[in-house]
Amino acid sequence: MSIVIHEDERDEYDPSHAVPTSAGRYYCDPMLGPDDPNRMKISVTNAIDQHMIEALAPAAARDTAIWLMDNLPAANRAAMDPDDVEAFIKEAKKQYRVQWDKKADLGSRVHAIGEAINLGKAYIPDEEAEPFVESYRQFLADFGVDLRRDIVAAECTVLNRTIPYGGTSDIWANLRFPGPTSPIMPRFKPRAVPADPIPTPSGLWLIDMKTSLTKPASAVYDDYLLQLAALRNAEVALVCPPSCRYGETDDHDASHEFAIPEFVGTAILNLRTNGYGFVPLPADQDAFDAFCGLLPLAHYVHGLEMRGFKPIQPPSKTTTRKDAA
Ligand SMILES: [Zn+2]
Repeated sequence: MSIVIHEDERDEYDPSHAVPTSAGRYYCDPMLGPDDPNRMKISVTNAIDQHMIEALAPAAARDTAIWLMDNLPAANRAAMDPDDVEAFIKEAKKQYRVQWDKKADLGSRVHAIGEAINLGKAYIPDEEAEPFVESYRQFLADFGVDLRRDIVAAECTVLNRTIPYGGTSDIWANLRFPGPTSPIMPRFKPRAVPADPIPTPSGLWLIDMKTSLTKPASAVYDDYLLQLAALRNAEVALVCPPSCRYGETDDHDASHEFAIPEFVGTAILNLRTNGYGFVPLPADQDAFDAFCGLLPLAHYVHGLEMRGFKPIQPPSKTTTRKDAA
């Protein structure tokens, strides 16, 4: 497999040890030398991208339609000339990506501030991120989370060296619930299935934060289960000093690593500008098996070289006529 590191795509908000490559995000294992074939580990979300997410095409269509409505006069002008039509469509096709990158950037900033809060560090105020940060503070207050007592880890790199893969886990927090289950919030009670209370054992939870300006606080997707299962089943967490970043130095040693603890539960924390939703999701063995099933697919696809595959000449032409081209 020839995965090329894209140095120019590195971003200040990239998680520790994450490396952008020609095949999406990978994590660099600082314990392994530059020649070790297992040094680069596929990222959890990169592997999950191999799973066709049905909602992505309609979401892209929606953002394209919104952009078109914002640019109707230009669309009308372009419609007069076939060349302009082509240029306009080319521009329109890029717009959902522009919107998604903006959302991803806002999400990264919220995560960075969340991490700063968890670590008790100061952060630079960010007007756009602030409503989400406010919702995060509300979650901490509502769930009785004491940062120093209850937050075990924040934004840490995790690796599974056996399988292998890598990822970033947002929050590990000790949560206390009054009973073994918790009722669903009345306004989110499902109509099509029984509104059973949801298991909420007290203990250490693995929590992944999601930000959105448009989706309700109840929005969860099947790929979240795969992601949570992969993070909970990683083997080691890295707590490297900055000198280890990207594994480019030889500073790394076993004291920067610790075994990933057992979690009593896994959940998504949906942060919104007007509140939050804490949704426990059972990232169980089946979810983990499903995630592991995506890895061979991802590795196969990332290793493919398709450029040499072209239509051949029919046998009759090959023997009767020299190829002029
Ligand atoms: Zn290290």
